[in-house]
Amino acid sequence: MNVTDIFETMEYGPAPEAATPALAWLKERQPFGLFINNQWVKPASGKYLDSINPANGKPLAQIAAADSADVDAAVAAARSAFASWGKTPGHVRARYLYAIARHIQKHSRLLAVLESLDNGKSIRETRDLDIPLVARHFYYHAGWAQLMASELPGYEPVGVVGQIIPWNFPLLMLAWKIAPALAMGNTVVLKPARYTSLTALKFAEIMQEVGLPPGVVNILTGEASQVGEALVSHPDVNKIAFTGSTDVGRSIRRATAGSGKKLSLELGGKSPFIVFDDADLDSVVEGVVDAIWFNQGQVCCAGSRLLVQEDIAERLITKLRARMEKLRIGDPLDKAIDMGAIVSPGQLSEIQRLVAQGVEEGATMWQPSWACPKDGYFFPPTLFTDVAPATTIAQVEIFGPVLVSMTFRTPAEAVALANNTRYGLAASVWSENINLALDIAPKLKAGSVWVNCTNMFDASSGFGGYRESGYGREGGKEGLYEYVHPAWEKAIKPTGSTSVAANGSSLAGDGKAPLEKQFMLPTEEEEQGNEHNGLQLQGGLPPIDRTPKLFIKGKQVRPDSGYSLDVYDPQGHVIDQVGEGNRKDIRNAVEAAHAAAGWAAGTTHNRAQILYYIAENLAVREEEFARRIGQQTGRAYEDAAIEVQTAIARLFSYAAWTDKYEGIVHRPPLRGVVLAMKEPIGVIGIACPDECPLLGFVSLVAPAIAMGNTVVVIPSQSSPLSATDCYQVFETSDLPDGVVNIVTGEREALSSVLADHDDVEAMWYFGSADGSRRVELASAGNMKRTWVSYGHTRNWLDSFQGEGEEFLRESTQVKNIWVPYGE
Ligand code: NDP
Repeated sequence: MNVTDIFETMEYGPAPEAATPALAWLKERQPFGLFINNQWVKPASGKYLDSINPANGKPLAQIAAADSADVDAAVAAARSAFASWGKTPGHVRARYLYAIARHIQKHSRLLAVLESLDNGKSIRETRDLDIPLVARHFYYHAGWAQLMASELPGYEPVGVVGQIIPWNFPLLMLAWKIAPALAMGNTVVLKPARYTSLTALKFAEIMQEVGLPPGVVNILTGEASQVGEALVSHPDVNKIAFTGSTDVGRSIRRATAGSGKKLSLELGGKSPFIVFDDADLDSVVEGVVDAIWFNQGQVCCAGSRLLVQEDIAERLITKLRARMEKLRIGDPLDKAIDMGAIVSPGQLSEIQRLVAQGVEEGATMWQPSWACPKDGYFFPPTLFTDVAPATTIAQVEIFGPVLVSMTFRTPAEAVALANNTRYGLAASVWSENINLALDIAPKLKAGSVWVNCTNMFDASSGFGGYRESGYGREGGKEGLYEYVHPAWEKAIKPTGSTSVAANGSSLAGDGKAPLEKQFMLPTEEEEQGNEHNGLQLQGGLPPIDRTPKLFIKGKQVRPDSGYSLDVYDPQGHVIDQVGEGNRKDIRNAVEAAHAAAGWAAGTTHNRAQILYYIAENLAVREEEFARRIGQQTGRAYEDAAIEVQTAIARLFSYAAWTDKYEGIVHRPPLRGVVLAMKEPIGVIGIACPDECPLLGFVSLVAPAIAMGNTVVVIPSQSSPLSATDCYQVFETSDLPDGVVNIVTGEREALSSVLADHDDVEAMWYFGSADGSRRVELASAGNMKRTWVSYGHTRNWLDSFQGEGEEFLRESTQVKNIWVPYGE
């Protein structure tokens, strides 16, 4: 080709980055060992695996294949390092994190080249995006290490953390995991993905360079079945942080159920890219390139579903095809290419399989006319039109450069189509009408919403999913809570060993107050011996029967079963009966809770007013509620009255929080802002504790509804009457129908139904260790968030344990809405 030809075609020539320094670095260290206690050690199995360059199929290096013996050694190293690292002052940890960030920058080009070689992604991306974001993550978290003592008072590190990361952003995912863990004082055992371990091994060298204390970071390469599973099930690991497929996330949820391990999961997605007819179509086209052909579409938040307003669909698709024709695919180290290689032959054949299925299902497939290189694992950019929303390619995460497009007519239809997925990781909205875009953003069920932009990330803005895209956030202050726990938790006891007294101290022996203080203040009738089954006779007549029913959709309804359960006083006398709810009642209650979703859209002022009103109406009946607690629990009237007063105060607290637990505005390094909104989770199932029958109920229901959730509540099984007595309080407090639904009955059976239910978005369970395990296990069905007590009691009267930010955090999820500015 001569100069005239070049002017004619305007073709780029190749601009390859030299691989020599990276290849020399690899050669010197062959074969790689495991990184335990800051030492390179041989794997117990003596086995090694090849790491392959996906752009040409040739081996790059040999990495150690760890097994469970190595996992034991690494966890032991991390445990012993935790003893001092967990107590190291924040400022000292900040210095280490700062040093790590500096060293990442010092080795930035080597890391970028290694990442391209190992993963197949283009050097433009690793150099300009992955590695700078890695450094930014460590700088940002150096700041949180410095500020932990003042900004997270009362919190402690979790301990030894097992971290499992995928192959699509190998070093970036490592940074997202390790930076917050170290900042909060934890120690780490990290397993990189089988196909992409090399930058993690260079990172291990950086740990040696900065002189991080031995055992604080341990890195084990190898296969999921040998390393990943052993790490997940290891009894001395306190938390698992995982990024990867929803199926593996689900299996990890099941494997850790009931173990008490903290868990954060960042899983798959099928993110919508919504284009309204007033959008700037040239910007949209570049946006689509970034959304789905960035990293060959192997991005959990890739904008893989293009939803276009019908009247511009044809124009946009024509422009898009023209742009696809110009995309360049090839050697990832060529600085002029747009797309590199797919990570592995297995991933390539999975993409091919799903694309073939799309064609079989009747969608129209289009690919550019040029051919992909033959010597590596390449797949061309692919566009499907005529796609039906229920087909496989519209629903399943393809994790490749494959875009499916569908059309809509109205904004409401766009939202419905966008949310028609089991995932909820991200979304982008394109419109020149900012009012429309900002109206749509809160309606999308996704953790990140990008307005007129896509795939934007920053350490300050937490990233994570709704629904089956997982839970927990990475980045931002919210991400820190994944790596800490309240310090008071250490002291709490298993359920049943104590009962909480009014003053917060434990009641002695059998959980009853001293005999002279038991039950309630004697009434005149009692003094005359005029008592029947614990109820007072009125003027010698039997009392009017007041059997509490269930409370669903604002109405008191009979249980479907037609059965009732006896409620006993501590002496074993039957004091009342409540409805025995079953599976059908729970289903009705969940339906009612969904129908009340408008509660979230109302103003926070209105929700606060209703909570105050509930408190007001409860206060009017304070004495009656106190007597009821005494009747069920045998506690002294004075103790019970304090419980009622605390419940009233707590309602006031959450009424106060309703319009004060707000989002914040981040200023990441871009021209624009990120609005971090705290959104309700949706329908929350709540199984209440037995201790403090009224306060336990109020302490859980009040924050949930204050934040805009609707709830299905199973009251204390032994003392349900304090909750059923609230029916009238709710009815007279303007609480909309369906916001609070109450189903009495057997807690274990009912909470299993709730935890299994696919339309329940979160499940809170305060009961036995076994019940906690069952709830966590069942939650894996739709990957609902769980909050369980593992059989431990908390002191509901204590304002740290029974109230506050922990409850508000469990009631909300953060959505980050990215709004760039400028022309
Ligand atoms: P996986 O979820 O299988 O792998 C992610 C990580 O988990 C890897 O380190 C893997 O190890 C490890 N792992 C796998 N199984 C277990 C287990 N049972 N216990 C503990 N650790 C385990 O993803 P794949 O690499 O197989 O990719 C499959 C699909 O997952 C993709 O097509 C894509 O749809 C999705 N995916 C989503 C990602 C995201 O960012 N959300 C990232 C990667 C994939 P090893 O590498 O040794 O197998």
